[in-house]
Amino acid sequence: MTYKRVLLKLSGEQLAGQYETGIDPDFAHWIAKEIKKVADAGTQVVIMVGGGNLVRGANVAGNGIRRVTADHMGMLATMINALALTDIMESEGVKTRCLSNIFAEQVAEPFVHRLANKHLEKGRVVVAAGGIGRPYMTTDTAAVALALELDCEAVLKATKVDGVYDKDPNKHDDAVKFDNLGFEQAVADADIKIMDKAAIGLAMEQGMKVVVFNPMEDDAIAKVVEGNDIGTTIS
Ligand code: UDP
Repeated sequence: MTYKRVLLKLSGEQLAGQYETGIDPDFAHWIAKEIKKVADAGTQVVIMVGGGNLVRGANVAGNGIRRVTADHMGMLATMINALALTDIMESEGVKTRCLSNIFAEQVAEPFVHRLANKHLEKGRVVVAAGGIGRPYMTTDTAAVALALELDCEAVLKATKVDGVYDKDPNKHDDAVKFDNLGFEQAVADADIKIMDKAAIGLAMEQGMKVVVFNPMEDDAIAKVVEGNDIGTTIS
C-alpha cells in the first residue's frame, strides 16, 4: 500500500534544526531531498509549516500586543518559513508552489481549493503558508483541516522523537513506544502529547489518520508513505 496523497506537518522547531531560532539550511535541504524521493515516486505531498522557530502567538501576546495581533505575527512567521522552504525545495529540483491562507498576493499564490488540487494533480508539492488563516489556531489544527479539505490519506506529523510514548522518553528510561494508538487513548491520556486538543479532536471526529514519526532517519518519509510500520499510527 502506498499513499497517493499525504500532508506533512513540519514544525518551526524542526526547521530551526541545530539552531534555537531561524531556519537551518542543512535541515531544509535534507528534508527537501527526502520529500523529493516520495514526490518523484508519485505521491502527492502537501506541507503545512509551523512558525514556532520565529513567533508563537501565545508567547508574544501581552505587553500591549493583543492575542489576535500575536497570532497574525505567528501566521506571518509561517509565511517566512514557507517561502524559504519553497525556494529550497525548488533548488533541489522539486516542483513546488507556495499557497497562502493570508492575503499576500505579492509573495505567494492565494490558497484556493481548486488551485491546490490542480497543482497536486500535476505533481507539484504544495506548501501552505499562514496556517488556516485565522487566530487562536495552531498549524497542527490547520494541518488536520487542510488534510481533510484536500482528501489526504494521512497527516504525517514530523517530530524529534520516533513516535508516541506512554510518557516523555527524554525524562523516563522506561517509556514505552506505541506502534498503534487509538484516538480515544490519545485524547484521554494526559501523559500522551501528540498535537493540541483541537487538532487531535478534529482528526478523531473525522477519522483522519495521523502518523507521528522522526523524519531525520534516511527514507523515513518514504517508509511512512509506503505504509511501513515506523513511528506511531493514530487511528
Ligand atoms: N497561527 C494562527 N493560525 C493558524 C496557524 C498558526 O494564528 O491557523 C499562529 C499561532 O500564533 C501559532 C503561530 O502561528 O502559535 C505559529 O504556528 P505554530 O505554533 O503552530 O507553529 P509550530 O509549533 O508548528 O512551529
